[in-house]
Amino acid sequence: MAEKIGFIGLGIMGKPMARNLVKAGYSLTVYDVVGERMEELVTDRAKGASSCREVAAGSDKIITMLPDSADSERAILGPDGVLEGAQPGAIVIDMSSIAPLVSQRIARQCAAKGVEMLDAPVSGGEPGAINARLAIMVGGKQEVFDKCYDLLKTMGSNVVLTGSIGAGGITKLANQIIVAANIEALSEALVLAQKAGVDPEKVFNAIRGGLAGSAVMEAKGPMMLDRNFRAGFRVRLHQKDLRNVLQTAQELNVPLPVTALVQQMLGALVNDGEAEADHSAILHFVEGLAKVEVRRGG
Ligand code: NAD
Repeated sequence: MAEKIGFIGLGIMGKPMARNLVKAGYSLTVYDVVGERMEELVTDRAKGASSCREVAAGSDKIITMLPDSADSERAILGPDGVLEGAQPGAIVIDMSSIAPLVSQRIARQCAAKGVEMLDAPVSGGEPGAINARLAIMVGGKQEVFDKCYDLLKTMGSNVVLTGSIGAGGITKLANQIIVAANIEALSEALVLAQKAGVDPEKVFNAIRGGLAGSAVMEAKGPMMLDRNFRAGFRVRLHQKDLRNVLQTAQELNVPLPVTALVQQMLGALVNDGEAEADHSAILHFVEGLAKVEVRRGG
C-alpha cells in the first residue's frame, strides 16, 4: 500500500488502532510524547518520529488520538506541530474526543495552509480499538470523507459521516451522555439489589436480556461485579467529555440535568484519587451514598 499514514497519540486507544493499520499493510510513522509508548509499535514495523512535525512531513494522512482539545491544538497547531510539517493536500484526521468548536477552529487554520481536516471521534472502548470494531463518527466534507473511508474502515465496523466539521464531535457528545447515564443507572440498580440482600450478579443476569440490557451494561456490569476498575475509559476523560457536553449545551441553551449531575459525580471521583480509574468507578460514588459495597453473591 503506497499511502503514507502518520499516527500521533499511542495511549489506550491509539496504540491498538495504529497496530491494526500496520497489520492491514499501511506504512506508518508514529509519535507519542511518552517515548516508550512508541517502542512496541516500532518493533511492529512502524517508523518512530521525534515530533508531530516530523510525522506530518512524511505522511499523506495524519491521524491524531489525544486526550483533550488543548492537546489536539498543541499537536496540530503548536510549535513543531503537524501544520509545520504537512504538505498542501494532506489530510488531518483528529480521532480524539474534543470540543466541536475547537475542531472547527483547527480546521480553519489547516485550510489556510491547504490542509484538509476531518473530526472523527470513536466509540467502542479499548476492546473496539483492539478488534477494529469501533464506531467512528465523522464530520467534514463528503469528498474528504470518501478519500479516508477505507483507512477508517480498517479501524472500525461502523464509519458514518454525520455532517460538516464538528458534527463528529457533536455525535460523540451525544454518545457520551447516553454512556454516562447508563453507568450511573446500572450503579444505582446494583447498589439497591445489594442493600436489599439480593445477589447483584443474579439481578444482572436476570435483566440483561430485557429492555434494560445494553452494550454499556454488558461491558461495565462484569467489571463492577469483579470489582475491576482498571481503565478502559478513564474517569478524567469522561469528566472532560461531559464538560464539553455541558459547555456546548450552554451555548445552545439546552438544559441537561442528568448529565450535569453525573459530571459532578465524576468530579468527586477525581477528588477521591480515581481520575485514572475506569468510568465504571461511578459505582463507588453511589456505593458511598448507601454505605454498601456491591459483591458477587450479595
Ligand atoms: P490516553 O491518555 O491513554 O492516550 C493519549 C496519548 O496521547 C498518551 O499516550 C499521551 O502521551 C499522548 N499525547 C498527549 N499529548 C500529546 C502530544 N502533544 N503529542 C503526542 N502525543 C501526545 O487516552 P485514550 O484512552 O487513548 O483516549 C484518547 C482519546 O480517545 C480521548 O479523547 C478519549 O476521550 C477518546 N476515547 C477513549 C476511549 C477509551 O475507552 N479509552 C473510548 C473512546 C474514545
